[in-house]
Amino acid sequence: MATQLDEIISLCKRRGFIFQSSEIYGGLSATYDYGPLGVELKRNVRDSWWRNMVYLNDNVVGIDAAILMHPTVWKASGHVDAFNDPLIDDKQSKNRYRADQLIEGYIAKLRKKGKDDKADAVYERLVEALNSEEMPAALYAIIQEEEIRSPDSGAFDWTEVRQFNLMFSTYVGPASDTENKVYLRPETAQGIFVNFHNVRETSRLQIPFGIAQIGKAFRNEIVARQFIFRTREFEQMEMQYFVKPGMQMEAYDKWKQLRWDWHVSNGVNPDKLRWHEHEKLAHYADAAVDVTYEFPFGWQEIEGIHSRTDFDLKSHQEYSGKKQEYFDQQENERYIPYVVETSVGLDRTILMLLFDAYRKEDVDGDSRVVLGFKPSIAPFKAAILPLVKKDGMPELARKIEADLKRHFNTFYDEKGAIGRRYRRMDEIGTPYCITIDGESLDDGSVTVRDRDSMNQERINKDRLSGYLLDRISQG
Ligand code: ATP
Repeated sequence: MATQLDEIISLCKRRGFIFQSSEIYGGLSATYDYGPLGVELKRNVRDSWWRNMVYLNDNVVGIDAAILMHPTVWKASGHVDAFNDPLIDDKQSKNRYRADQLIEGYIAKLRKKGKDDKADAVYERLVEALNSEEMPAALYAIIQEEEIRSPDSGAFDWTEVRQFNLMFSTYVGPASDTENKVYLRPETAQGIFVNFHNVRETSRLQIPFGIAQIGKAFRNEIVARQFIFRTREFEQMEMQYFVKPGMQMEAYDKWKQLRWDWHVSNGVNPDKLRWHEHEKLAHYADAAVDVTYEFPFGWQEIEGIHSRTDFDLKSHQEYSGKKQEYFDQQENERYIPYVVETSVGLDRTILMLLFDAYRKEDVDGDSRVVLGFKPSIAPFKAAILPLVKKDGMPELARKIEADLKRHFNTFYDEKGAIGRRYRRMDEIGTPYCITIDGESLDDGSVTVRDRDSMNQERINKDRLSGYLLDRISQG
């Protein structure tokens, strides 16, 4: 049976991966804190992305732009005018829905009932409505004509559909007037676009080249749910790749492949990954595809790869009055580069990795929960476990721990039955358990238990760090 979301949420809280934000005050909805294990997992995934995008590509460099930006940035990017979700309220329950998602839910219900023809027809109308100039009215018309009822109250008593801007705003300085209004960035990409020339000039890069960034983004999502899948504060890992106009499809295909390979390299089961080609493209895009993952709540987007033409740089040129052109020395021509972007949510990637790694197994009449993380992303690479808390075993174990800690993160535990200590490590995904026993004191050997096979091997302590480093880098 598929792992349910509440099993993952409960494990995350129980073992210190992820907590509800401000929990002692009843929590703040759709906002989460990463605990001691979650922060390690997140850091490993973040480092893996950075290594993969920046260190392994000699024409990609990184930046870290501010969250607050000049408000005109968001005019130029289109977010002030168009970063909206269509909203509808159930007048009886007072609950708020995204009108397009309400219709999607209705379509899914039709399919479940075997009414595929009808579902196809409504879907076609939905796509048309989303592309229409009169999007709110067109969505409202579908809801009315299909008599779509509220999922919570069952009522058919809706407000009109209204557009709701997803950006959070605040004020700089003491005066809260419109002139001082700024936004919390809803994506990290714009920090890259506005630094295009700064980075190009200082790094002396020639096109094609990329700029990568990891950072927080904020969206006032109307319906935020499914744990860390959709939150109001989240982290994005984005890269903008600047190319000569006409070369974008080559870059798009290359990055599509590289991004897929990265997810698989983190241990994600490729059978649970799928491409989703966009049927409706944003007006400035000439290709767009999502990497989706099969969660228990359906196939959902993890990452978007978008060919964005010269839309962003052109728009910033227009709004700022500063030329955003590039002089191509080889071609002896001037142009505004085209952009292919890869944009992945760090928190969503974490949720995918948790689902993908989670398994329950029966072992000799006992059961165990395992997070089968790839060693490279596991919070701890090894646990150091003296068999008993006496006879010099803890002292030797501490020495071994000090040696291993120079290379990677380890966990020390000397309390309780060894079987129970193994289970605790399985549940947080620690790939190796090192046990120090009586024999270790005599001949310096220790046992290394493998989390997945549960096989144990005897290794001399002097060979231990090399042995583990070898395995961690392979697996
Ligand atoms: P969705 O359709 O799910 O709202 P999107 O198409 O708006 O996502 P993008 O703007 O392309 O998403 O953002 C790129 C990535 O950022 C997404 O693939 C996702 O992983 C992540 N992301 C976007 N919004 C959120 C959110 N509210 N919470 C967590 N991650 C998010």
